[in-house]
Amino acid sequence: MSDQHSFETLAIHAGNTADPLTGAVVPPIYQVSTYKQDGVGGLRGGYEYSRSANPTRTALEENLAAIEGGRRGLAFASGLAAEDCLLRTLLHPGAHVVIPNDAYGGTFRLFAKVVQRWGVDYSVADTSDPAAVRAAVNDRTKVIWVETPSNPLLGITDIAAVADVARTAGARLVVDNTFASPYLQQPIALGADVVVHSLTKYMGGHSDVVGGALIAADAELGEELAYHQNAMGAVAGPFDSWLVLRGIKTLPVRMDRHSENAAKVAELLTRHPKVTQVLYPGLPEHPGHEIAAKQMKAFGGMVSFRVQGGEEAAVEVCNRAKLFTLGESLGGVESLVEHPGRMTHASVAGSALEVPADLVRLSVGIESADDLMADLTQALG
Ligand SMILES: *Cc1c(COP(=O)(O)O)cnc(C)c1O
Repeated sequence: MSDQHSFETLAIHAGNTADPLTGAVVPPIYQVSTYKQDGVGGLRGGYEYSRSANPTRTALEENLAAIEGGRRGLAFASGLAAEDCLLRTLLHPGAHVVIPNDAYGGTFRLFAKVVQRWGVDYSVADTSDPAAVRAAVNDRTKVIWVETPSNPLLGITDIAAVADVARTAGARLVVDNTFASPYLQQPIALGADVVVHSLTKYMGGHSDVVGGALIAADAELGEELAYHQNAMGAVAGPFDSWLVLRGIKTLPVRMDRHSENAAKVAELLTRHPKVTQVLYPGLPEHPGHEIAAKQMKAFGGMVSFRVQGGEEAAVEVCNRAKLFTLGESLGGVESLVEHPGRMTHASVAGSALEVPADLVRLSVGIESADDLMADLTQALG
C-alpha cells in the first residue's frame, strides 16, 4: 500500500493483502503458536513462533504503521503492556521523564509505582504550556510524555511546540494518541518519536477487545522496540489483532460521527443550569481550542463536565443515566458515562493528578444524538 493513499483507503487496505492460499479478502486468524520448517532453519513465510511474529498480528502492525505515518507498528496485549515495553526500551536507571499533570491514571501508576522503583524519576508538568515542559526538563531527561486530548480533563498540548522542546533537550517525544486516534491527529507528522495507543478504545471501537500499540517514527527505534516486544512477550494474540484490524476499517466514519455527536452534547451541556463547566476542545472557550483546531481534524468523542452540587451530584448523574451505560473505558460505538474520581482515576487520588470530585466523563457513542441528549437531560434532572 503506497503512503500516497488517503487515510480512509489505508485504514481499509494497509496490511490487508488477500490471503495467498485462498484469496480470502480478510486476513485469516492464524490461531497458531508454531510453524513447520522445511529442514532446520527453513522458514516458509518467515514465521517460526507466534510470540516473535504471527501473520494476523503482522497485518495489524503494518496497518498501524501506515495509518500513523510511522516506520514500524507493534501490537501488544494492552495499552499498558505497550507503555511498559516502551519505557523499558528507552529508559535506564538514573533517567528522568516529564509526564503530564492529567495523564491516564494507569499511565501515572506505571511511572509512580513501577518504573520509579527501577531508579527512574519523573517531573509532573502542565504540558499544555510548552514553557512549563521546558522548565521541567533536566540533563537526564530521556522522555517527554504527552497525552492530547488528555484524560479526563481534555487538555490540549501543542505537539509541534513540545517536539521542539524534546529535540533541544535530546529527549524522545512520546504521544499517547488514544483519545484522538490517527484519523483526527497525526503526532509523527508533528514531530513525535513514538505514538502510543490503547487499541481497546477507538481503534477497536466496539468494546470487545483489549490491546495496545507502539508506532515508531524511525526504523532503528522500531527495530529496538520489536526486539523488546519479543524479549518481554506481552504481544497481541491473533484473534485480538483481527478484531482491531476489523475495527480500524470503520475508524474514519466512526470518528466523524463521534465528533458530531460530542459537539451536540457539549453544546447542550453548556446551556444546562446544573452544569458549571464543560470541557470539550471543540468549544471556542476551551483554552486549547485554537491548537486543537490546528492539529486535529475534528474534536473527538470525549466530553467531560462539572456538576453543581459537588461529588454526590456528579455520582447521581452517572447513576441516573440510562442510554449512557455506566462503565469505565471509552471509544466504543455505545455511549458510556463515568465518575473519574471514583472510577478510572481513583489511582491518582492524593497525587498532583487528582481530578475534580464533581467531574463526569462521557464517551459519546454513535447512537442518535437526539436520544443521547434526551438521556443526559433526564439524568441531570
Ligand atoms: C485506556 C488507556 C490507556 C491504557 O490502555 P489499556 O488498553 O487499558 O491497557 C492508556 N492511555 C489512555 C489515554 C487510555 O485511555
